[in-house]
Amino acid sequence: MKIARVALDVPLPKLFDYACPEAGERDVGRRVVVPFGNRSLVGIIVAVSAETDVPAEKLRAAGPILDDMPSLSRDWLALARFAAEYYQRPLGEVVHAALPPRLRRPQPLRLATAAYALTEAGRAALPTLPSRARAQRALLERLASGPTSPASLGSPAALRAVIRAGWVGAVPAPRAPFRFVAEHALIAAQAAAVAAITAALDRYQAFLLAGVTGSGKTEVYLHCVAQALARGRQALLLVPEINLTPHLAETLARRFSGARIVTLTSALAANERAEAWLAAHTGGADVVLGTRLAVFAPLPKLGLVVVDEEHDASFKQQEGVRYSARDLAVYRAHAASVPAVLGSATPSLESWAHARSGRYRLLELPERARPGSRLPAVRLVDTRTDRAIDGLSEALAVAIRSRLDRGEQSLVFLNRRGYAPVLVCGACGWTGGCPRCTAHLVLHTADRRLRCHHCGHETAIPRHCPTCGNVALAPFGRGTQRLEETLAARFPGARLLRIDSDSTRAKGRWDAMRGAIVAGEAEILLGTQILAKGHDFPRVTLVGVINADAALVAVDYRGPERLFAQLHQVAGRAGRAQAPGEVLVQTRYPEHPLYQALARHAFAPFAESQLAERRAAGFPPFVHEAVLRAESEDMRHAIAFLQRALAAAPLSQDGIALFDPVPMSLARVAGRERAQVLAQSRSRRALQGFLGEWVQALYGLRSGKVRWHLDVDPIEF
Ligand SMILES: [Zn+2]
Ligand SMILES: [Zn+2]
Repeated sequence: MKIARVALDVPLPKLFDYACPEAGERDVGRRVVVPFGNRSLVGIIVAVSAETDVPAEKLRAAGPILDDMPSLSRDWLALARFAAEYYQRPLGEVVHAALPPRLRRPQPLRLATAAYALTEAGRAALPTLPSRARAQRALLERLASGPTSPASLGSPAALRAVIRAGWVGAVPAPRAPFRFVAEHALIAAQAAAVAAITAALDRYQAFLLAGVTGSGKTEVYLHCVAQALARGRQALLLVPEINLTPHLAETLARRFSGARIVTLTSALAANERAEAWLAAHTGGADVVLGTRLAVFAPLPKLGLVVVDEEHDASFKQQEGVRYSARDLAVYRAHAASVPAVLGSATPSLESWAHARSGRYRLLELPERARPGSRLPAVRLVDTRTDRAIDGLSEALAVAIRSRLDRGEQSLVFLNRRGYAPVLVCGACGWTGGCPRCTAHLVLHTADRRLRCHHCGHETAIPRHCPTCGNVALAPFGRGTQRLEETLAARFPGARLLRIDSDSTRAKGRWDAMRGAIVAGEAEILLGTQILAKGHDFPRVTLVGVINADAALVAVDYRGPERLFAQLHQVAGRAGRAQAPGEVLVQTRYPEHPLYQALARHAFAPFAESQLAERRAAGFPPFVHEAVLRAESEDMRHAIAFLQRALAAAPLSQDGIALFDPVPMSLARVAGRERAQVLAQSRSRRALQGFLGEWVQALYGLRSGKVRWHLDVDPIEF
């Protein structure tokens, strides 16, 4: 009896056995359709065995094995297994999160195949084929002379049979070799970084590429990618935001003429995404560019891994399998014995600590790459003396005016979208809160709505105060829409462009806006963090930062690290071409060490002082953390579940600190109350061992309506 062990997307930490007489070793890594309850699911065969613990009367028969694509490799399955063990999730969940949605459906793919070729097994089988298998033999002989398009292969039935046998597989269409277009000469620091990385192309080494904004990190990546491609390898390039992919994809296409570049993001249509994924899987794609989900792209010829803006929180998945794409990228590089390059102007403290300890090799780009381009001058505007009127200090207003006069662009940064963060009744103190979250409803005047930025709940703006009937309700605080009003009134006739997730929601909007900015069709850009990340706007010479102080008093120990990174990034948009840049930060606390470090572009001293604080307080990266979270309609149920979970924790807790259940800092979201238990250890291995045992006990607990999950290396509290 042949048993297929199948990884299925169900929340149980086990594999599922099915009778599958046709299964063989060659089917490991293939999709199979199986019955589950009264549903039909698609799973991945991870092993084929002769035995099972499932009693014969309960053993069900697997449906068809789908041989519409080459099997997932053992290396890929090992990656999924590592992620499942490290993040404490069932293998089936990880595998399904890693597959593009089109491949999660229990139907065969119908994608055009460019060409077929003999596999090793096919080459070996050809001389042994019995003479009666005439059609198959003819087909293999035809393919023995090289990859062939399906149209010239004749009998579809014979083709299916030889694919099924593992003798023939899809391959990309043959094409000419690529050519790397070197557009810029490298400056010395860039050349040194490229030399160091390319010298390590045949082994594992993690590099931290710490380069100031405008130092040409991308150029370093491109030169290293060119070297990897020249060796016939594939490169994986991860970026934090979908918005960053179109521009980079254009650059890659221009610079690697003849190479196949594919993009993998959640914004792609299902078929496009499946095609890109398969191009990676069959080795047809030379470069895979994508957001965090692309870290799971199967890459049989992986030669280089690059993570740009590695400090960015977007690399951490916040639901389902809560993986860090940056950390998995480093794992992949290690498993494939190739280098990983993590780049940032403001590296994460974790990576910085690794560079200090020698685990990562630090490569620095201390200067801007473009001749004549210098880091912008940062000026702190003390709003205790230069009072901001409608959010705008006189100093910033004067600076914007001078840019308008000179025909240069200004960028005004306010990391809060909407009109105002809250609507307030001046008579009784009522504030518009979300009924489903511990959060205020944000006022959006454009469509006259109050909207929750956490759960999406929205209502019309009330005509009067629901508590006291007062009709004079007033906005409090400032969002981008309100600041847009202010700027329009202060600079009549200036061409303003507001860029936030409201104004860029429609598909293609951001691309159009970026085009308009680069073409100089806007004079004042106003926006949120969308504007801060990695973009190159050569006409921007002034950056104004509004109301960053609010983030100084963050509840989370990562607050200062994030604020510094964000402000440094946005400041870096100023003066990237020849014209010198200037940054004005409005603050009531100009003496604050964070602002002082920012003004001196002093990342390293800032990172050192933060690390010293983290060490003293016992925070990551000096300890390793995981949280067990519980969600329920009722906080008491969530806490009670966590208490039972604590009681069920393994007795051996050497080196593990377990804290009491507490509500999360944003305790209620979308009508669900959220609480958590923090586990800490100085030893990652001890923590992993503990979690592995604990999670087994957790699956055994009755949770009722409480939903729970573990989050390893959490970044949200
Ligand atoms: Zn009132
Ligand atoms: Zn809400």
